[in-house]
Parts: sequence; structure tokens; C-alpha cells
Amino acid sequence: MKLDVDALRYLSKEDFRVLTAVEMGMRNHEIVPAELVERIAGLKHGGTYKVLRNLLKHKLVHHDSSKYDGYRLTYLGYDFLAIKALVNRGVFSSVGRQIGVGKESDIFEVATEDGTILAMKLHRLGRVSFRAVKSKRDYLLHRRSYNWLYLSRLAALKEFAFMKALGEHEFPVPRAVDCNRHCVVMSLVQGYPLVQVKQLQNPDEVFERIIGLVVRLAEHGLIHCDFNEFNIMIDDEEKVTMIDFPQMVSVSHRNAQMYFDRDTDCIFKFFSKRFHLSFHYDKKDGSDDSGSDLEEDGRPSFWSIEKSTGFLDKELAASGFTRKDQDEIEKVHMC
Ligand code: ADP
Ligand code: MG
Repeated sequence: MKLDVDALRYLSKEDFRVLTAVEMGMRNHEIVPAELVERIAGLKHGGTYKVLRNLLKHKLVHHDSSKYDGYRLTYLGYDFLAIKALVNRGVFSSVGRQIGVGKESDIFEVATEDGTILAMKLHRLGRVSFRAVKSKRDYLLHRRSYNWLYLSRLAALKEFAFMKALGEHEFPVPRAVDCNRHCVVMSLVQGYPLVQVKQLQNPDEVFERIIGLVVRLAEHGLIHCDFNEFNIMIDDEEKVTMIDFPQMVSVSHRNAQMYFDRDTDCIFKFFSKRFHLSFHYDKKDGSDDSGSDLEEDGRPSFWSIEKSTGFLDKELAASGFTRKDQDEIEKVHMC
């Protein structure tokens, strides 16, 4: 999605006041009645309606008069609220080019006052997942979590909390800088996603390092769940950084072994195909009760890893992300 931040400069205090009023109304309305927006914004002389027309022109709100005269935020409107809050806090001062388009996110470069370039990830839950999958829609229809705003915010909070906690445990992740609404600001990773890398000096070492990460995550009680060549970055020194955490689960999840095996399978397959590493790769049915550290084809065995489960409850709760949040977001990713 194009993020035209030029309009940010032209928006007045009143514009932001009304935009915020629409956001507040969306806590319990999918479409916020215009009168409610007016009541929350509290502008004099019908000023709210004039402002709403301006916001509509800039595509920051969407007008819906199918049931009653009402408005909802667009993703662009939500982006502006988050960006404005982060700029006010001094986290960055300008937005640059787009550097990534994920399944459910857009990533931009942003610059701080002193010229440091950071990465800003805007979560866009609902872009694919809800429209496409009926079962999800049915499940979400009667829930607060149907609200994409709420879900995108939860995904950002989760990503920020994990990035911070993992960084503190010296996992190679971007530095978590700040988070607001559906937006996470982090350090810019030098290098490229593994999927774009055609050659490595030491493919064996890189492979070992990456598999070592999956195992170390499990020792900390976590499974990435989307661990693949798109979410691993490599720099010129072949240093590895992992990204993209909103779907992580605990090792005590009922499908933990399946997710763990899927993560390792992705890496084995990719290295075998792209870098011709041979480990007699042969996908088995996943059952392993040998108690050995490695399965026959060299894959780490989920059951032989000594797993701690305190991470999710203690470290993440400390950053404001609770077990309840985790349960809620897991349902969206997994159902
Ligand atoms: P999604 O959840 O939508 O897959 P990702 O977090 O995987 O989003 O980001 C999508 C792409 O954006 C990545 O593949 C990568 O190219 C780029 N990207 C994400 N975070 C960073 C970062 N901190 N530094 C540099 N590039 C990044
Ligand atoms: Mg990704």
C-alpha cells in the first residue's frame, strides 16, 4: 500500500482530533455514527462534519451510509495516528521508502532527527487472513477480535514484546525501539532475506547457526512458527538475524511438535535445494521416541530438548503482553 505521508504536514490539530474521535468510537462500533464522532471530538459550530469531509478526501476515513451515516478509520488513517504519536515522542522525524511488503505488513525506512535510519513495520491483520478464510470469519464474527484495528495492535505489541525479550537474551533480532498502535519501530537490519541469497561462503556454518537458533528458542520455551528463508536476514559477513514474530507460540502449545518440525523442515529443505547440503533429507511422519538429540536425518528432535516455559509468562508479561493476549492472537493465526 502506498503511504503518502505528505498529507501529514497539512493536517491540522482539529483533523487529528476528529481522527482520534473515530478511532475511539471504533472500540465498540465497526462503523462509528457521525453524531458520536461529533460528540467525542467536541468541535464547535458543526466543525466536525467539515473536518470529516477533509479526512475523507485524504482517504483517512471511510464513509458508510448503508445503515446510518457513519465513518471508520482506513489503514491509512490508523497509520497517520501511529506515525504522529511516534513523531511527537521523538522516535523518528521522517518516513522514507518502503523496504518490504509482507503478507500482513508494510515496512518502511524512517529517519531520526540525527539521521539514523530505522525500520518501521505497520501490521495489517485482516488484509489476507479474514477475507480469504471463511472459518476464521465465522469464528471472529461475534468477537471483539474481529476488529482489525484491535488485532493489528495486538500483533504489533506481541512483536515488540518478543523482540525486546529475545534481544535481552542475546538472540540475533533487530533492536526493539518503540511501538504504538499497529506500528513497531526497530533497528534496520543490514543484509538481505535469505531467500535472495544465491551464494554463501560457508553454507554449513550458516545452516548450523540457523538450526541452533530453532533449538535455543525451544530451550527458552518458544517456537517461531514461520521460520523460513523469508524471515531470516543475512549480511555480508554471513551473520544471521531473525525477524517477524507475531505468530510465535509456546512449546506447551498442543501442536508444538508439528510447528517445531515445520520450522526445521523449512530450513533443511531450503539449504538442501539452494546450497546442495546433503543430510539424506527424508521427511518422516514426525514420530520420534528414540530420546536421541538428533533424528536419523540429522534434524533436532523436539522431545530431547530441555525446554523452559517461564519466558512467555514472566518476561513477556513484563512488557505488557499477557498470556490472554497470546491466546487471543493464537486463535487468529491458527484457526
Ligand atoms: P511479514 O510479517 O509481513 O512477513 P516481515 O517482518 O517478515 O513481515 O518483513 C517483511 C520484509 O521486510 C522482510 O522480508 C525484510 O525484507 C524486510 N524487513 C523487515 N524488518 C526489517 C528490518 N528490521 N530491517 C530491514 N529489513 C526488514
Ligand atoms: Mg515475514
